[in-house]
Amino acid sequence: MTTDPSCLFCKIVAGELPSTLVHEDERTVAFRDLHPAAPTHVLVVPRDHHADLAAVSAADPGLVADLVAAAVEVARKEGLDGGHRLVVNTGADGGQTVFHVHLHVLGGGPITGLAG
Ligand code: AMP
Ligand code: ZN
Repeated sequence: MTTDPSCLFCKIVAGELPSTLVHEDERTVAFRDLHPAAPTHVLVVPRDHHADLAAVSAADPGLVADLVAAAVEVARKEGLDGGHRLVVNTGADGGQTVFHVHLHVLGGGPITGLAG
C-alpha cells in the first residue's frame, strides 16, 4: 500500500477526512466531488497513491483498467443511462490540482465547464 501522508485523497481513502462514498472495491474508492460541475460528479481514485496518470500507467497499468471499470460501475449505479463524461486532468497544464490520480465521472445534466 503506497500512501502519502500529506495527500488529500490519501486522507479520504484512509477515512481521515470526510467524504460521501459512492462506490469502493479492493483497489479503488469513489466519492462525490466537493464542488460538483454537473448534477452527478464523482471522483474515482486508487487506494494507492500515484501522482497522476503517467505515474500510475508506468507503475501499475492494471490499476488504470481497474479505475476505468470502477468509473463505469459508478455511472451505472448513479443511473447515468444517457451517458457520461470521464475527465482525467493530468499535470498543472492539464488543470490537475490534486496530485493523487483521479477520474471525474460527470453526467445527469449540463456539465458546467471542464472539471478542474
Ligand atoms: P483536479 O482539478 O482534476 O485535480 O480535480 C480535483 C477535484 O477535487 C476538484 O474537482 C475539487 O472540487 C475536488 N475536491 C477538492 N477537495 C475535495 C474534497 N475534500 N472532497 C471531494 N472533492 C474534493
Ligand atoms: Zn494520495
